Amino acid sequence: MRQVIIIGSGPAGYTAAIYAARANLAPLVVASSVEAGGELMNTTEVENFPGFPDGIQGPALMEKMQAQAEKFGAEVLYDDVVELSVEGPVKTVTLGSGAVHEAAAVIVATGSAYRKIGLEGEERLSGRGVSWCATCDGFFFRDRVIAVVGGGDSAMEEATFLTRFASKVYVIHRRDTLKASKIMQERAMSNDKIEFVWNAEVADILGDEAVSGVLLRSTVDDSTRELALDGLFVAIGNDPRTHLVHGSLDLTADGTIWVDGRSSRTSVAGVFAAGDVVDPTYRQAVTAAGSGTVAALDAEHFLAALEQAEEKADLHADERDDDAAAA
Ligand code: NAP
Repeated sequence: MRQVIIIGSGPAGYTAAIYAARANLAPLVVASSVEAGGELMNTTEVENFPGFPDGIQGPALMEKMQAQAEKFGAEVLYDDVVELSVEGPVKTVTLGSGAVHEAAAVIVATGSAYRKIGLEGEERLSGRGVSWCATCDGFFFRDRVIAVVGGGDSAMEEATFLTRFASKVYVIHRRDTLKASKIMQERAMSNDKIEFVWNAEVADILGDEAVSGVLLRSTVDDSTRELALDGLFVAIGNDPRTHLVHGSLDLTADGTIWVDGRSSRTSVAGVFAAGDVVDPTYRQAVTAAGSGTVAALDAEHFLAALEQAEEKADLHADERDDDAAAA
């Protein structure tokens, strides 16, 4: 049986792995088969991670985190957890390959998944003009007219990045003010290729075989109009990935995993959670990394207490045996 298994390989998962490995807990990191490295793998330049004054590419940062965890003895598996059982003292983690791993402690750092608008055309035209990842798909839109939906940092980042390829990028936002940080707003607003479509939501995605446009509905007066497009990038935020723990761990009203105060302790002893899956507010690479640290330290304390309790129980058992032998 393992001491600790970490599910997830974003900044939270790998930072937890670095700390757990340095504490000689030989953690197993289940890194996912397709999304290893987490969301930063789909990012370009990361400018706000301390220690990199010239910025660093998201994938390069994740490679460094993984190398650092492995250097201290973390084992990384490229597989997906399909089932997590947290009842009792032995937690079991079942992987897509069918392998079952056991551990005394589990750290859930499963991050979050792209939010969808919820339109029929979104699924149908996914990969045919609808995308959630500019760095993955931007290249296919050279000299095309595209739009990004959203008003946060992700939408600004995606729109700015997409101007490298597209001839024009609309940003469709349901308000007349943005949620994005000042620097990201200014960057997008000063880009000649970007045009903002304010107070509008996407009511329908048009096109049979590929995206040909969207139907926009005004959030002010409900009027509708069509906008011709070759592609649509959805950047409206993320939802915590909690499918593995539905029914077994308590969740908050925001849908994140409930943790006890500033700790990473969930509603089940021996199960800890870190990163975007517990954070509805800050959701930065560096806060996720900090939260991974907390989880590893909490797991370490939990395991140490467990060991002490076992030693005490062994001692009592020995004493009882001695008493029985003497009697
Ligand atoms: P976000 O900050 O939650 O913004 C989501 C945006 O999408 C909001 O403007 C929201 O509109 C809009 N939206 C949500 N649901 C919608 C729907 N159904 N239809 C239309 N619009 C919808 O999400 P995010 O931009 O992904 O950013 C998440 C976190 O990551 C933030 O903390 C952000 O700072 C961080 N981040 C940082 C960077 C960076 O620093 N380089 C880059 C990307 C992300 P309302 O404004 O009306 O709510």
